[in-house]
Amino acid sequence: MQPEGLTDPFGDELSPTKRTVATRKSTHPLIVLSCVAVAAVLFTADVLTPRGVTPTIGYCVVPLLAVQTGRRWFTIGMTGLCTLLTWVVYFLEPPGAPAWMSVFERSILTGVLWFAFVLVWQRMNAQSALARQSQVLEDLNKELRRSNQELDAFASVASHDIRGPLATTGMLANLVASRLAGKIDQHCAEWLSLIQSEIQRMHSIVENLLEYSRFNTDRSGAVECDCEAILATVLDGLKADLTANRAQVTHDPLPRVKGDPIQLAVLFQNLVENAIKYRSDAQPKIHVSVAAEQDGWRFSVEDNGIGIDPADAERIFRPFERGEGSKTTKGSGMGLATCKKIVELHGGRIWVESARGSGSTFHFTIAHP
Ligand code: ADP
Repeated sequence: MQPEGLTDPFGDELSPTKRTVATRKSTHPLIVLSCVAVAAVLFTADVLTPRGVTPTIGYCVVPLLAVQTGRRWFTIGMTGLCTLLTWVVYFLEPPGAPAWMSVFERSILTGVLWFAFVLVWQRMNAQSALARQSQVLEDLNKELRRSNQELDAFASVASHDIRGPLATTGMLANLVASRLAGKIDQHCAEWLSLIQSEIQRMHSIVENLLEYSRFNTDRSGAVECDCEAILATVLDGLKADLTANRAQVTHDPLPRVKGDPIQLAVLFQNLVENAIKYRSDAQPKIHVSVAAEQDGWRFSVEDNGIGIDPADAERIFRPFERGEGSKTTKGSGMGLATCKKIVELHGGRIWVESARGSGSTFHFTIAHP
């Protein structure tokens, strides 16, 4: 059985969220007192006022107040009580105007009172429906989060378990290759080297998958991050790659944001790495800019690389999806999926503006917590 005060106006069982609201509602003795006080004051005034003038119109305030408790029975009860008091005073009021006038006035005022009640009732219904919908949405969200976490945990466990046998296979392939060096024909040597490079590819897929599944915490532990320092560290780590490609990286003054510095570093690293990886014949030029938005920051990483077919613009953010222009480039298709996950964990979104042959600009937003 529901404990007293823990059912909604429809008598349904309350979820924990609704229960909190109900508990808050039940802590509203002030409203109950106000309803009773208003009714008592109006009753007294009505009893003292001679027939012909009646202050009972004020009873309409009572259902408006009573609804604040969120209890349907209380609102009905108070409206009924006010109706009763209106008519009891008919017999108690001092003489004045003719009796039919009092009956007429009290009938009109009773009508107005119940009209106010109907409006209040409809509002209660609408609020209740809204609460149910929010609850359904919240439950769905929870379920989605739970299944995403399960999926991450599965990917993480699977990647961990594959790592060991993969490392052993790689080591054995290397051993075989070194033992047979010079003793096998060219075809066999090529196949062996193919096996080694496929093992290497599988290794990088597993590592990327592990990285992807590692990021699943929200911003509850967020700290103030200096994006300028984060980008500097990332560029330092990519120094060899940048120098080898004669890449030029420039950036606007970058802000401090609330977030996870490791995740943000991975985000910048993946985007800058891609800008180099998918370079065109021209000297790679990468610019990181930022713009303040109403509820956060919008960062943009612009390059002059090979560009992306607009038809691929959404697909490439999904795990293991690679663009048309990446056939000859090594990769697992997990980089942008990881970026998307990180951005979403920071309350933002990521998208790309590009066309084949004319560079790409990756935009992402970081919301204020
Ligand atoms: P990977 O680079 O391993 O393929 P990503 O998830 O990082 O995986 O990228 C997905 C695809 O998006 C790439 O295969 C490539 O086609 C495209 N892409 C990403 N960044 C760029 C870029 N800066 N310029 C052109 N294409 C890009």
